[in-house]
Amino acid sequence: MATERTFSIIKPDATRRNLTGAVTAKLEEAGLRVVASKRLQLSKEQAEGFYAVHKERPFFNDLVSFMISGPVVVQVLEGENAVLKNREVMGATNPANAEPGTIRKEFAESIEANSVHGSDSLENAAIEIAYFFKPEEIVG
Ligand code: UDP
Repeated sequence: MATERTFSIIKPDATRRNLTGAVTAKLEEAGLRVVASKRLQLSKEQAEGFYAVHKERPFFNDLVSFMISGPVVVQVLEGENAVLKNREVMGATNPANAEPGTIRKEFAESIEANSVHGSDSLENAAIEIAYFFKPEEIVG
């Protein structure tokens, strides 16, 4: 097992309902440590750039609109097997398919407004962390 860093976003549906603490508690209970965190209003360009991999998908424009509809909280999470552990505690993309006890099962509103983002690989985690954080903003 290796200590890893992964990237998380608490999405606008969750910040709007004042669930930042509740979501973060789930992450911490799973053994992940928040080593960087900031609340941001994403610009359209930032959201489009972040989700560029999805730009040909039918849901892209709606997803970008949703992601800029209110504040987000971007975080760096650290822990043993952090990438996989975070994906597990997040639950499936569609909350209807998410396991009981996961963040998306408990909090998500829909497949789009699903409360959290989490990196899907160590390689993408490094890219996504660098998109939002300078190295000196991360305190392990
Ligand atoms: N999404 C959506 N409709 C879909 C699939 C995904 O609106 O049919 C949104 C949803 O917010 C999801 C994000 O696009 O979290 C990125 O999709 P991905 O397949 O990468 O899912 P994730 O890795 O977030 O579970």
